[in-house]
Amino acid sequence: MIVSGPSGAGKDTLIEKLRELEPDMAYGVSVTTRTRRDYEVDGVHYRFTTRDAFQLMATGGEFVETREYAGNFYGTPRRLVDEALAQGRDLILKPEVNGARAIKSLYSEAVLVFLMAPSSRELLRRLEERHADTPGDIDRRLSIAREEEEALSQFDYRIVNDALPAALQDLRAILAAERLRVSRLPAARDAGAAARVQQ
Ligand code: ADP
Ligand code: 5GP
Repeated sequence: MIVSGPSGAGKDTLIEKLRELEPDMAYGVSVTTRTRRDYEVDGVHYRFTTRDAFQLMATGGEFVETREYAGNFYGTPRRLVDEALAQGRDLILKPEVNGARAIKSLYSEAVLVFLMAPSSRELLRRLEERHADTPGDIDRRLSIAREEEEALSQFDYRIVNDALPAALQDLRAILAAERLRVSRLPAARDAGAAARVQQ
């Protein structure tokens, strides 16, 4: 499951709550060249690395997708996705919208959820409240957010993260429904993996 949407919408907060309730889900820790925020733990929130090391990993084919976002690089490690698929575990990722689309084009079974704040004013408030980004960074994130909202129609679901408990309930409802899909029964999953190998 991919939870995407503007920075500050509440992806990390919501995913953290979901993981408490769904401990068997795999979580895809991305690699980034961004500076670590005070509250972030290397290997838990991201794997923090240098631009040179990131570039080496990218040329070595270690990522499913990579993006430059607000001057830093982010990438989804291929090993994480392969492992989760091999184990038949649900995987949760939180790329920005271009990354989400790239993953969907490679893995058609991916479910794209667009998380948004109830208003642009509230988005700004959340970005400021987080105390993680400089005013320049916040401006960049807001202008990227406006572009990101134009991609909404390419997503499967939209959740407005107003009150957190309601947003969490929505996300769990999507998860529950998706788990019941006939196309996700083990036999159908194996057929999907075989088709990918042949491509
Ligand atoms: P993202 O991962 O999408 O960038 P975060 O999870 O870091 O966003 O959330 C940004 C800020 O908004 C954080 O300070 C977080 O505590 C706050 N926040 C998240 N969800 C809500 C909510 N439903 N109501 C109020 N504040 C929220
Ligand atoms: P932040 O710096 O706020 O942690 O993340 C900036 C943006 O990068 C967010 O929209 C976040 O969802 C996105 N992001 C995090 N990891 C990845 C990744 O592996 N790939 C892509 N494409 N985007 C990512």
